[in-house]
Amino acid sequence: MHEVGIASSIIESIEAEARRRPDAQFTAVGVRIGELSNVDRDALAFAFEALTLKTPLEHLRLEIEWCPRRQKCLACGEEFVVKDWELTCPKCGEARSTCIGGTELDIAYLELEEPCEKS
Ligand SMILES: [Zn+2]
Repeated sequence: MHEVGIASSIIESIEAEARRRPDAQFTAVGVRIGELSNVDRDALAFAFEALTLKTPLEHLRLEIEWCPRRQKCLACGEEFVVKDWELTCPKCGEARSTCIGGTELDIAYLELEEPCEKS
């Protein structure tokens, strides 16, 4: 289950960020996962929860942004979302297209609360 490895690298990135901002409270992390990245969303959410349990990141929300496979037509430049492995351009019928999305696997954002500056 390689989702565990992915979850722990997400957590490592958050921990590195947490060291830079010792006063910040991390509330959520958004990750972008492409349809072609071979990641099981549920398995990732489960691994993330298991790895953060009883750690300072226990209450951190994992928000998964699912990115469908997208292609760009080589003839007319139309960009379209692939459904049912249909790679033909919906606009002009061209069969040749190039993959422009769906392999994402990265952290999109980190949500954090920093204490108000009071003196
Ligand atoms: Zn086209």
